[in-house]
Amino acid sequence: MTHPFDVRLEALTAGARSSSCEQTQRPRSAAGRTFFIETFGCQMNDHDSEKVAGVLLARGYRPVDSPDAAQVIFYNTCSIREKAAQKVFSRLGQFKAGQDAGKVIGVLGCVAQQEGEEIFERAPWVSLVCGSASYRKLPELLAQIEEGKRRVTGLDTDTDETFETEVTRRDHPFRAYLTIIEGCDKKCAFCVVPYTRGPERSRSSASVLDEVRRLGDLGYSEVQLLGQTVNSYRDPSPRRVSFAELLDAVGRVPGIRRVRFTTSHPRDFGADIVQAMDANPALAEHVHLPVQSGSTRVLRAMQRTYTREGYLEKIALIRNARRSIGITTDIIVGFPGETEADFEETLSLMDTVQYDGAFSFKYSPRPNTPALHLDDPIPEEEKGRRLAILQERQRQIQTRRNEALVGQVFEVLVEGKSRRENQWAGHTSSNRVLNFSSPAENLLGEYAQVRVTRAGPNSLVGEHVT
Ligand code: SAM
Repeated sequence: MTHPFDVRLEALTAGARSSSCEQTQRPRSAAGRTFFIETFGCQMNDHDSEKVAGVLLARGYRPVDSPDAAQVIFYNTCSIREKAAQKVFSRLGQFKAGQDAGKVIGVLGCVAQQEGEEIFERAPWVSLVCGSASYRKLPELLAQIEEGKRRVTGLDTDTDETFETEVTRRDHPFRAYLTIIEGCDKKCAFCVVPYTRGPERSRSSASVLDEVRRLGDLGYSEVQLLGQTVNSYRDPSPRRVSFAELLDAVGRVPGIRRVRFTTSHPRDFGADIVQAMDANPALAEHVHLPVQSGSTRVLRAMQRTYTREGYLEKIALIRNARRSIGITTDIIVGFPGETEADFEETLSLMDTVQYDGAFSFKYSPRPNTPALHLDDPIPEEEKGRRLAILQERQRQIQTRRNEALVGQVFEVLVEGKSRRENQWAGHTSSNRVLNFSSPAENLLGEYAQVRVTRAGPNSLVGEHVT
């Protein structure tokens, strides 16, 4: 999907400049061809699309604003829940007419990995199918298409490579995303990610820091480090920099004012991360720590590798920090065998933790996952009932927590301007949305001090303190 913000093209390495020199040697068919990437799913998918766009730009393709205007359409897919995966084939159906017009249609991401060549059977107008673990092969696959090959695939997951690109298109003007670890080894019973994104593989700390330095030079002040389990980062270089040390080093790069990271796995969340956050104000005051369930019995069935008590110890580490750190989570309701008592334990954990935000989902059975064969599925209607109760409980918690902030002043990175006169919007360090009024002429990209005057469950309202 196109992003509301301007597009920045960023040359990440000197190599990027040499790749533009290569343009004369490119097959003529690529030069000037237009592309459009439509993206579904998580931030990692969004950022993968930015990197895929970089690969296309480096080969001479030109971005356009709609699939209708594009000669190459890439569809970056998500299969984390069944609904997302179902959408893929109906959307692909809408691209069918494009084949007659000579368009190239490619499927990327988790559905590409999961369905593989089956996609060609169900949607014969597709020419390229490539999962995220094979994105390193994309330039090669594109070259084959440019030479006229009708169908190409990149479906290996058996890889130790990461997808580092010479050129990345940045779709957000102030926040830059960086993948520091790809894939996942955790094997949670509900989750398709280990089967669609391959094994965990980390980038070297030197490569991460090089990219952050370039981002700082280009004027980005906020970076977000990404990984399915970002805090499982293991520096493959002899320096063996830990995740907490990497966070600290990123926060010390000139120009960088806010460092975010997502998603953390509770098992690998240690006191050293909180100590780094306390010691370095550039590390944003926010931890996203998915719990999934408040019942140890269900957590065991989910193969989450921690108990309710163990999770609460991690929360205590964060709550005991010197800085006030916002905590958000992910929760699944209706996992097979979840009893009413288990569900009550999830609600009581929410009362104990007092999350600042929660993404909550009905359990969705996924192909290849261990949970697929568990007994005692919960009926859809019951999952819906539990989800509604849980979301209402969380809404009340958020309302109370946000109301307690009225009168306080927060620093906001200003990311948007409303059509209404003098109205601006941005995020606090703890990742709350703060809409505020200011007579200032242009605040976009600036850090503003804002006093909170009103609060709702999902956002705050305030005024600029000049
Ligand atoms: N890798 C991250 C983790 O383990 O926390 C994020 C994975 S996923 C992109 C985000 C969330 O989707 C998960 O934390 C989980 O709550 C939810 N999810 C994953 N698989 C699911 C499934 N089969 N059914 C319902 N929700 C699911």
